[in-house]
Amino acid sequence: MSSARPPVRIGQGVDAHRFGDAAAGPLVLGGVTIPGAPRLAGHSDGDALLHAVVDALLGAVGLGDIGALAGVDDPRYAGAGSRVFVDSALRRLRAAGWTPGNVDCTVMAERPRLTPHRAAMVEALAGALDLPTSAVSVKATTTDGLGLIGAGEGVACLAVALVHPAPG
Ligand code: MG
Repeated sequence: MSSARPPVRIGQGVDAHRFGDAAAGPLVLGGVTIPGAPRLAGHSDGDALLHAVVDALLGAVGLGDIGALAGVDDPRYAGAGSRVFVDSALRRLRAAGWTPGNVDCTVMAERPRLTPHRAAMVEALAGALDLPTSAVSVKATTTDGLGLIGAGEGVACLAVALVHPAPG
């Protein structure tokens, strides 16, 4: 029996950030501004969902992690939108001959309520990854009050990405 199948690869990413100072503004997750919780602490905008997606994409093709991307510690990107890291990861992925197939994400957070913002996060992620919204999934869960996430101290995100050889 032939085992010839189109080659695909899979990567995973995990990230967690604590909630930052309320003065820094509202939470940004998946590139979407979400009221009801403070922005996550971090050098950039603390967008743990985009950071997890970046690590999943890079991991799928063995290109390291977000720390390998130029600019992650660059003062110019202090407070910057994490979309620049997604763009950078996509450029690396494509330069290596790969393109995203689909992405599935889980956000673990006790607060704020994310379900009303899920469609916007899917749209934003799909736009950033140049994928149809049908190829992007964002799920949300709590930890039932357990641990640091359950105590509402921050947000953790997991992402899995499938990548295909880029056409051409
Ligand atoms: Mg991060």
